[in-house]
Amino acid sequence: MTAKPDKYDIVIVGAGPAGSITAKTAAALGSDVLMIEKRQAIGDPVRCAEGVSKPQLKEHIEPDERWIAAEVKGSRIYAPDSTSVELSEDVSGAEVGYTLERKLFDRALANEAALAGAEVRVKTRATGVIIEGGSVKGITAMHLGEECEIRADIVIGADGVESKIGRWAGIDTTLKPSEIETGAQFLVTDIDIDQDFCEFHLGASIAPSGYLWVFPKGNRSANVGLAIGGDVCHQGNRPIDLLRNFVEERYPNGKIIEIVVGGVPTSGPLEEMVTDGLMLVGDAARQSDPLTGGGIINAMDAGRIAGEVAAQAISEGNVSKARLREYETIWRERHGKRLKRSLAVKNRFVTMNDSDLNKLVHSVEGIDFSTMTLFEMLKVLVRKNPRMLISLGKLFV
Ligand SMILES: Cc1cc2nc3c(=O)[nH]c(=O)nc-3n(C[C@H](O)[C@H](O)[C@H](O)COP(=O)(O)OP(=O)(O)OC[C@H]3O[C@@H](n4cnc5c(N)ncnc54)[C@H](O)[C@@H]3O)c2cc1C
Repeated sequence: MTAKPDKYDIVIVGAGPAGSITAKTAAALGSDVLMIEKRQAIGDPVRCAEGVSKPQLKEHIEPDERWIAAEVKGSRIYAPDSTSVELSEDVSGAEVGYTLERKLFDRALANEAALAGAEVRVKTRATGVIIEGGSVKGITAMHLGEECEIRADIVIGADGVESKIGRWAGIDTTLKPSEIETGAQFLVTDIDIDQDFCEFHLGASIAPSGYLWVFPKGNRSANVGLAIGGDVCHQGNRPIDLLRNFVEERYPNGKIIEIVVGGVPTSGPLEEMVTDGLMLVGDAARQSDPLTGGGIINAMDAGRIAGEVAAQAISEGNVSKARLREYETIWRERHGKRLKRSLAVKNRFVTMNDSDLNKLVHSVEGIDFSTMTLFEMLKVLVRKNPRMLISLGKLFV
């Protein structure tokens, strides 16, 4: 049976960080908002290493001990030969600072959206978009096994890496295998690790064209995971097998209490993030960082801009592509250059062999990075290795 159609100003598909911040922002500005989530519990299962930078997080939400699993002072990057460099989180802006408990964090964000006035519906899966007169006018969805139509002046696709909303509306969201990092992670407990530092390990035998991370989660436990390019992922070189090798060797007595698998886009942002009556945010718009794979803060930043523009467009009664493009323009002004640089660095790094990576790390051994940003550290690397990193030179002047 088809239920009676609902009508909202804005319907948001997906209750991850992008969806919840968009919903909260637009609802707080007076729009009539519905956010739907296909899962029965927001934030669960987790597909994330849960690392975020403290200052960036604080721009969106006051940290709450209920969803912070651990706090770290910095990170160490290990070359294939185990030489390491250290970055201090307070200034590095690296994707560290807190390890979140995303099951609770995503739920807290959705709760904020609800408190701002947004309606939230879980176990509701978008199955298509309604297009009339060339403009998106809503979605079709399944809620508890029942088909329904939800009409809205603006549909916002915040449906993550597996996004279909954009494609249904005619936006090209295709990712090549090389443009997606495929990851696996274990929550390993009863291990001796330095709870103050995140670790990043590089090397062809550890994580070819990717990296392995160890993010402390407090209580003698850590998220130990790795992600590799989809183009190098095949039988015999699967993230889960590479991870098992590392964990068995490094933490032979560790106990695995959770397994996470998932992908993150590393393509750089979509060329087009809006169309008539539709916007895409977060991983759905491929806004995660191509170099680090970090996408939580990026999704929240984009959600705030999208929520503001959507609410204004609603109050003006103009939801055309030309009007909604303001979101894309503001987003590119604030974040475009940084992600372009990350993509260039990633594209160069994935071509490096272990000997190149060792040379890079050796070239900066002994340099104190504790007062440098990640950008400044990359700048030093480019200056010290002009031949190897020639293609990146102009991005770091
Ligand atoms: C292994 C791994 C490790 C990572 N580690 C980090 C990290 O340490 N730090 C970091 O910043 N980022 C990390 N990321 C990336 C980060 O998880 C994402 O960038 C971030 O979650 C993007 O937020 P989002 O709101 O755009 O999408 P998501 O968080 O993916 O949320 C999308 C939501 O949409 C829902 N949805 C999808 N389709 C539909 C539908 N048809 N109808 C209704 N709902 C739908 C999904 O169920 C989901 O809840 C990692 C990713 C992976 C895979």
